[in-house]
Amino acid sequence: MTIDEDRRRGHGVCCTVSPEAFDLNDDGYAVTEQPDAPQEFEQTARPAAVSCPERAITCH
Ligand code: SF4
Repeated sequence: MTIDEDRRRGHGVCCTVSPEAFDLNDDGYAVTEQPDAPQEFEQTARPAAVSCPERAITCH
C-alpha cells in the first residue's frame, strides 16, 4: 500500500474508515506504518482507499 504525497490532503477520512491502517502525522497528513503489509492487512486498508476523496491511497 502506498500514499501519494502529492495528492494527499489532511482531512483524515482514511483514519476514520481504517484506523488500524492509517494515522495522521504531526503535520496532519495521513501516514501508514505498514507499507509492506501482508495481503490480509490490505483488505483492512482497502475501504479507506476507496473512501479517500483524493484517490491518494493505492492498495497493491
Ligand atoms: S483520506 Fe486520503 S487525502 Fe484524506 S488524509 Fe487520508 S490519504 Fe490523505
